[in-house]
Amino acid sequence: MTTSVTVLGQGAMGRALAAALLAAGHPTTVWNRTPGRPVPAGARELPLPEALHSDLVIVCLLDHGSIHETLDPFAGKLAGSAVVNLTSTEPAAARELAAWAAGHGADYLDGGIMATPPMIGEPGSSVLYSGAPAVFERYRPVLEVFGAAEYFGADPGQAALVDFALLAAMSAMFAGFYHGAAMVRAGGISAADFGTRCAAWLSAMAGSLPEAGALIDTGDYSEPVQSLTFTKAALDAIVGASREAGVDLDIIGAVRNLADRQIAAGFGGHSSERMFESLLP
Ligand code: NAP
Repeated sequence: MTTSVTVLGQGAMGRALAAALLAAGHPTTVWNRTPGRPVPAGARELPLPEALHSDLVIVCLLDHGSIHETLDPFAGKLAGSAVVNLTSTEPAAARELAAWAAGHGADYLDGGIMATPPMIGEPGSSVLYSGAPAVFERYRPVLEVFGAAEYFGADPGQAALVDFALLAAMSAMFAGFYHGAAMVRAGGISAADFGTRCAAWLSAMAGSLPEAGALIDTGDYSEPVQSLTFTKAALDAIVGASREAGVDLDIIGAVRNLADRQIAAGFGGHSSERMFESLLP
C-alpha cells in the first residue's frame, strides 16, 4: 500500500524530499509559509490545516522556533498522526518537540539529514533517526526513499546528538583545510591545488579514526605509539611555520592547547589520543 505523505516546508531541502517521495510513487502534499515557491511536479499544494491529512507528516522548516510557529495553531489536528521532523534541531529541542507531539496525541520521530538537497535519494545520502520506534518501523520503506535510514533508539534527541557531532567533526576538518590553504598561499600555491592534495591526505589519515576511538574508549593512554611530547614538538613546529606564513593561530593554536593541557597535567609520556580528555568537563 502506498503511503500518503505531507512535506511542510518547500525550501531547498523540503523540495528535494518531496521530489524523492513523488519519484517513489507516494501521493505527496506540500505546504510552504510563503506562497508561490516552486514545488516539484505532481505535488499537491494545500493550506494548513488541510495539508495535515496524510499518513505521514514530514516537517522540514528552518529551526525549532519555526516548527512551533507553524504547528502550534493546528496542534489539535495532529492527534493520531505520525510526525517526522527533519528540521535541524538540537537534542533538547527534539525532546521538547516529542513531548509536545505526545501531548497532542501524535507519534514523533526526529531525523538528522546527512546530505545536501541534490544528494537526496542518491547513493551516499543518509538520515539518522530516533524517537518513536513504531513510526520508524512502520514507515521505514518510505524514509529509505531519501537515503540510508539508521535508527538510534527511543530517545528523540539521540539522532540530533550524532548529527551535530558529525557536523562538529566536519566543521573542524574544514577549518583545518582553511588554515592549511592560508599557509600555502604564502608559497604561491592556490587553494584549489591544495584542496586536491588535502582531500587525498585527509582521506588516507581518516582510516585510523576507528582505532583512535577504540583507544579512547579504553581510557588507558599509557602505551603510546606516538606520545604527547612528540606530538607537542610537531605542533610547535606547525605553529612556527604558520606564524612564518603570517597565518592566524586561532585554529592550530586551539589544537596545541589540547596537548598542552594534558602535558601540564603530567601526561607527556601518554598517547596523543589523550588530547580527547582536554575536551571533557
Ligand atoms: P531553506 O532553503 O532556507 O528553506 C527554509 C524553509 O523554512 C523555507 O520553506 C521557509 O519558508 C521555511 N521557514 C523559515 N522560517 C519559517 C517560519 N518562521 N515559519 C514557517 N516556515 C519557515 O533551507 P533548507 O535547505 O530547505 O533547510 C531546511 C532544514 O533542513 C533546515 O533545518 C536545515 O538545517 C536542514 N538541512 C539542510 C541541509 C542542506 O544542505 N540544505 C542539510 C541537512 C539538513 P519561506 O519560503 O516562507 O521562507
